Amino acid sequence: MDFLHSNLAAIQHKLAFVAIEPINWKLYVQSFSWGVTLWECYLLLRQYPLYSKKEPPPALAPHLGADVFEKSQKYGKEKAQVALFSKLYSQVLDSLLLQFGFYAWCWDASGRILGRVGYGSEYEILQSIGFSFLLYFVSSLPTLPLSIYSTFVLEERHGFNKTTPGLFVADMLKSWAVGIVFGSPFLAAFLYIFKWAGDRFVPWLMAFMLSFQMIMVFLYPTVIQPLFNTLTPLKDGELRNRVESLAGKLKFPLKHLYEIDGSKRSSHSNAYFFGLPWSKHIVIFDTLMEQSSPPEVEAVLAHELGHWYYFHPTKMMVVSQFHIFTILALFPAFLHAPPLLRSFDFPKAVSAQPPTIVAFLIFQMILTPLEAVISIGMNGLSRRFEWEADRFACELQDTLGEEEMKDMGERLGRALITLHVKNLSTVWVDWLYSAYHHSHPTLTERLKGLETYQASREKKKD
Ligand SMILES: [Zn+2]
Repeated sequence: MDFLHSNLAAIQHKLAFVAIEPINWKLYVQSFSWGVTLWECYLLLRQYPLYSKKEPPPALAPHLGADVFEKSQKYGKEKAQVALFSKLYSQVLDSLLLQFGFYAWCWDASGRILGRVGYGSEYEILQSIGFSFLLYFVSSLPTLPLSIYSTFVLEERHGFNKTTPGLFVADMLKSWAVGIVFGSPFLAAFLYIFKWAGDRFVPWLMAFMLSFQMIMVFLYPTVIQPLFNTLTPLKDGELRNRVESLAGKLKFPLKHLYEIDGSKRSSHSNAYFFGLPWSKHIVIFDTLMEQSSPPEVEAVLAHELGHWYYFHPTKMMVVSQFHIFTILALFPAFLHAPPLLRSFDFPKAVSAQPPTIVAFLIFQMILTPLEAVISIGMNGLSRRFEWEADRFACELQDTLGEEEMKDMGERLGRALITLHVKNLSTVWVDWLYSAYHHSHPTLTERLKGLETYQASREKKKD
């Protein structure tokens, strides 16, 4: 532990200037956030002309009807327009809020509200919770019309929306309630650890965040998800037999197999697994089962189980722990820095002893460019994992010595094409746009990959 703390202290020493020098942090944050937004707009503008292409890529042409291609181009184009508008609109809004001292106003307002019910400024944690909710509510209101437009106009026009206005409102209220019920104790504990552990908070906070993630793995499917969707045990039949037998052969600790009524909101489809290492649950969207045959859904699950086989979720978790560690290791220098808060319009009295939550929020804004770079890395890693899982499905016949699985790659390919067609996913993709945004390789890339894996295992056999 001492080794860790002396290294952390060295980092703080290098960053000591933050606490003293009157840097114009607001200008930095404004430039960074505009920089990232303009970069993302540039990527959208690179992608945009591709939606006007008249022919699909040769590799996909045999699988896409002319009308499907045309529909997907139209859907993609409209989504891109909405994305461009939303991006600029949100940026202008955030920028204005930042410029005119909105954060300082929220802190003050939360203090005044609590003051009225008898809690003074010595209740920092309480005021921080009030501050966070106020900030969240007030800043999410202006983007509400965007979300309404995208659900009831854009998705509706292309036949995806299944959400009714009643369901939309109920979903929103429920997610606010979930935010308050789970968010407040989390935030309270998070802030309490800072106070309690002082400058040695890094390992404690990491342990806390990790435990919280573990608890959520347990609570999300059992408590939160049932608020929004119904999970029912998958009916007996061909698909259940196939999935159970596949899980058995791979020694995947399958506890429950569910189907989920994803069709309640949208006709986009999927499948996933979750749970603790010794007890896992598989969930299949009803939409996926409607669109694909049992052997194809089995191939989709073979891909999903490839993620489990190669420990992909665990690896992602380890990477994200490093990410959290980096953030926390840099943070102390920004924690006791009056000039930082002063440059965001906080009054002298508040800046002199910066509230942890405020310092953390500003610190996160300062990290925007770093976060953009990290997200490129994470997407790259995720795409690698997708290749691995596709290859796993393709080679399953050799791994398990099952002749019956010899067409697993083809089945997966067919399922991916169906998913792509039904979701009207984008067909032509700009490489830079994809490298930045996509956690999955494109359909063309995946189909080519599946062919290559199949060819290379046949070669090995000869
Ligand atoms: Zn995957």
